[in-house]
Amino acid sequence: MSDHPSYPPYPSGLRLAGRRVVVVGGGHVAQRRVPVLIGAGAEVHVVSPEVTPAIEGLAAEITIALRPFREADLDGAWYVIAATDDRAVNEAVSLAAEERRIFCVRADDAREASAWTPAIGRHEGLTVAVLANREPRRSAGMRDEIMQALREGVISIAQDRTPGVVLVGGGPGDPELVTIAARNALASADVVVADRLAPRELLDELAPGVELIDVAKLPRGRSASQEEINRVLIEHARAGKRVVRFKGGDNFVFGRGYEEVLACAEAGVPVTVVPGLTSAISVPARAGIPVTHRGVAHEFTVISGHLPPGHPDSLVEWPAVAALRGTVVLLMAVQNAPAIASALIAGGRSRDTPVAVVMEGTMPGERTVRSTLAGLEADLEAAAVRPPAIIVVGDVVAVSAPGHDG
Ligand code: SAH
Repeated sequence: MSDHPSYPPYPSGLRLAGRRVVVVGGGHVAQRRVPVLIGAGAEVHVVSPEVTPAIEGLAAEITIALRPFREADLDGAWYVIAATDDRAVNEAVSLAAEERRIFCVRADDAREASAWTPAIGRHEGLTVAVLANREPRRSAGMRDEIMQALREGVISIAQDRTPGVVLVGGGPGDPELVTIAARNALASADVVVADRLAPRELLDELAPGVELIDVAKLPRGRSASQEEINRVLIEHARAGKRVVRFKGGDNFVFGRGYEEVLACAEAGVPVTVVPGLTSAISVPARAGIPVTHRGVAHEFTVISGHLPPGHPDSLVEWPAVAALRGTVVLLMAVQNAPAIASALIAGGRSRDTPVAVVMEGTMPGERTVRSTLAGLEADLEAAAVRPPAIIVVGDVVAVSAPGHDG
């Protein structure tokens, strides 16, 4: 230990699944380590007279002894973390571990410890662990840079290039609101088939060799455009390409995503799904409108307004929706908004029910128009509301925080 200060550590990936790991201490250091240990499958045993609520919340997955450390706590342990804020206790843990030949990390004094915790990151099945010679800030900084470089494809591990289709939800429009999985999928694509509402900025970042197919520009010919899209997806996947089907929001929220899943399955093409942040919730959120709020709305209903109430093909029971008390979130509803507002009033919703219309949510052109069910038609017209827009109906619209510009 301290008598060999200049030797570098010997890196090793501990496989802790099913093995007892003792964490002595129940404060913020323990709180950060325990979830990672649980994630590695370890049988975690925490010993501390007091633990933070976050550790308490993990009680179903770990064992906790609410008392001071005893040497016998280390019986059967494979690994120990001394994470108290009391130097003497950490010292005692460390000595007891040393005697039993169990590797022990010390939160207070790395020089005296037999093991060090690296800064870690995970990316597509890869674990990055950085040890910067007892300088935790430096190791975390280096880890962050490596992770960012991996995410942005500046450095790349052998990408998953198996042929097939990946349905990727791109979120509501702001490129920051795309998931890491979505970015990884785009980085591994040979072909990207993109919708108009998919976040466009991300397409500029595609590697030069990637073929970009804009669905809005597909020839419509005799086949319906969805059939044409299915055909394009299957054709490229069969040619050995990795195809990303990139859409706005989440592919299964009015995105016809599952039709593509079925078409691929029928054609024997492997298909995977990367869920996205749906505009139905995130666009109101960014505009300062919560879809639920304690004491105001205990439910929200997301409805496509592309057909007016009473349309023979409509699957929406508007009188039942009107009879609910909660929030109604309408997508694709700009054109039919007046008819929908009338149906909700006819079904019993108050004429004064607040309504917010959020256009181009999370994007530079975002604009919110506030109205009521009775005033909606005139206000949509006066504000020249155009799609894409989300219409939120319900008392949650009135709870926005003062000063929020939504
Ligand atoms: N799958 C998408 C929704 C597709 S339907 C999702 O989960 O978000 C398309 C409709 O979504 C648009 O007509 C509009 O009502 C809504 N929409 C999508 N993105 C939007 C945005 N950034 N701002 C406002 N409305 C949006």
